[in-house]
Amino acid sequence: MHVPFFRYPHVVEEHREPLEKALLTAARSGAYILQADLRAFEEELAAYCGAQFAVGVGNATDGLELNLRVAGVGPGDVVLLPSHTFVATASAVVAVGAKPVFVEIGPDHLMDPEDLEHRVTDRTRAIMPTQLNGRTADMAGIQAVAERHGLVIVEDSAQGLGSRFRGRMAGTFGVAGVFSFYPAKMLGCLGDGGASITDDEGAAQTLRELRDHGRNERTREVVRWGRNSRLDNIQAAVLRMKLARVDEAIAKRRHLAHRYHENLRQVRQLLLPPPPDGTGDAVHHDVYQNYEVEAQDRDELRAHLTKNGVGTALQWGGKGVHQFPALNIRQSLPRTEAILARSMMLPMNTSLTDSEVDYVCEQVIAFYDTWS
Ligand SMILES: *Cc1c(COP(=O)(O)O)cnc(C)c1O
Repeated sequence: MHVPFFRYPHVVEEHREPLEKALLTAARSGAYILQADLRAFEEELAAYCGAQFAVGVGNATDGLELNLRVAGVGPGDVVLLPSHTFVATASAVVAVGAKPVFVEIGPDHLMDPEDLEHRVTDRTRAIMPTQLNGRTADMAGIQAVAERHGLVIVEDSAQGLGSRFRGRMAGTFGVAGVFSFYPAKMLGCLGDGGASITDDEGAAQTLRELRDHGRNERTREVVRWGRNSRLDNIQAAVLRMKLARVDEAIAKRRHLAHRYHENLRQVRQLLLPPPPDGTGDAVHHDVYQNYEVEAQDRDELRAHLTKNGVGTALQWGGKGVHQFPALNIRQSLPRTEAILARSMMLPMNTSLTDSEVDYVCEQVIAFYDTWS
């Protein structure tokens, strides 16, 4: 059996007919930039998340940067964020002239509110939790720190679409949240795409100006310096079709996560992500953007899986942001580093069948039976 880590052709095959219809209709309409499909998608996305406004942007990295600008983060400010995140979270901080300082993660691979508290100084301005792997962090703990010290929260919810903490959706906890529509993400389009969400009308208006050369939407007058970072109408048309089906995709991922958990829970050499709650009203509602495990003898396990046709991956190539020497970040984060050294991702996407998951699990179990 061959189980690749991700099947890019499946992005089209999964909903071939409605996808072709959405694409062709949008393409033939002659309406490409800041048009009806984008406006409709923004409304539908905001409604899905329980937010007031959504603003489509070119990609989530731009969204993060624009959100920081809207939150008033700039030169001289320190922003606290986890190191187990995409470099984009930190580069957005650098892009607005602020300094990223990294916080340890806990056993669920998300920002640890206790360590966060210890790193606050009088230069700290904002907290950027990453809602990694489709799980929302302990936002109660993080909000308590923010309130105690008067800090703003700007979530990196690029991987978190549809995940909830105490019933509230990822992306809705701070000034603004962000989603990535990179093809392999929970809600993937056919290229780059992203969106910011916010409840603040002024913030939404500023975001719409920033993404469109600083122009006011109504008057077309330039009212500030901006840039070009708009979500294409054609991508928005595809995303509308997929958003209408995203709950199905989430249910499938949760089903697969449950199956992994049942198959692998006895393997003492593994630390699995928390299983999906059965009731739906637990503290965390996870959507499993990724299935990231910690594994003893990880590199040997990966080699065994590769040999037996199972694709795996290390998130960010296995390095936290602070571990790229070229970025010159002089911080050591022993807990994060220990977790990253053991972490790997098993296949997790909507193309997988139950028997493929079972095969992956059989191979994992076979490895530990003979290796240790
Ligand atoms: C994918 C991702 C981003 C960046 O998204 P793009 O749309 O590719 O810019 C940022 N943060 C995290 C955690 C991501 O996974």
